[in-house]
Amino acid sequence: MFDFPPIAPGEPVRISASTFVAFRQCPDSALARLQGEWGPESRAAFSGGLAHRLFARHLSGEPIEGQDFGRVCRSEIGGSNLNYKLGALGLKPSELGRVIDEVGAIYERFKKIPADGFVGAEVALMVEPAESVTLVGSVDAVFMGDEGVRLVDWKTGELGEVVDQLHFYALLWTIEKDELPQMVEAVSVRTGERVTEVPDSATVATTAGQVADMVGRLRSAWEEDRGIERRGGPWCKFCGILDSCAEGRAATRLGV
Ligand code: SF4
Repeated sequence: MFDFPPIAPGEPVRISASTFVAFRQCPDSALARLQGEWGPESRAAFSGGLAHRLFARHLSGEPIEGQDFGRVCRSEIGGSNLNYKLGALGLKPSELGRVIDEVGAIYERFKKIPADGFVGAEVALMVEPAESVTLVGSVDAVFMGDEGVRLVDWKTGELGEVVDQLHFYALLWTIEKDELPQMVEAVSVRTGERVTEVPDSATVATTAGQVADMVGRLRSAWEEDRGIERRGGPWCKFCGILDSCAEGRAATRLGV
C-alpha cells in the first residue's frame, strides 16, 4: 500500500506502541525502556491491566456474573503477569479488595457499551517493515462495520494524549492487513470520552516516517553510546531513569 521509508541497518529493535509514544514524549525515556529500565509499577496500571483482561473476556462471550466477580479477578491475576505486578506493588489483601471493587464499577460501565460488529479482542499485530526492525501492538478490540474495520483502545482513566498511539496501530494494521482501518478510537470507559481518528494514506506514511526516524536515532545513540534528547513532562513520573535525570526531577518538582 505504501513504501516504508528506508532505515539504515543496525542493532535489532522491537518497538511497541507504548515505546513509540514514550519516544514521542521524550526520546531518552524510550531509550531507557529498550535497555530494560522501566518505571515503577502503579496501582492505576495494575487495575487498568485487570480491567482490560475482563473486557476481553466479556467481549469474547464470557460475561462475569456479580457473585463470581472477585473469584474471576483473582483467577485472572493469578494466571497472568498481573501476579508479578501485584507482588511489585505489595498490595495488602484489603487493598486488593478495594482495587477489585473499583474494577467492578468500571466493568459495570463497560457492559453498557454496544459491542455490535465485534470480531476480536486483544488482537496481536506484528510486522517487520525493515530488517531487524519489529513493530508490535495489541489492539484491545476490533469491530467490523459496513465501511470497514474499527480498532478500539480502552482506557480506564482519562484519555490524555492518545493520537500517536492510535496512529501507530493504524500503521501496523495497514502493513499487516494491507488495508487501512476505517477508524481507530480511544474510549475512556470511566469518563465516556472518545477520540476518533480516520486514518488515510498520508497519516500512515507520516507515522511510518516517525518510526523510521526513531529507529535511526536509537541506533545512532547505541552506536555512539550516548543519549538522544530529554524532554521533561508529566510522563516523567513513569520513567525508569527519573532518579538520575535532572530534567525529569525538575519537571516533577514543578508538577509539569
Ligand atoms: S525523567 Fe523525564 S526527562 Fe528524564 S529521561 Fe525520563 S521522561 Fe525524559
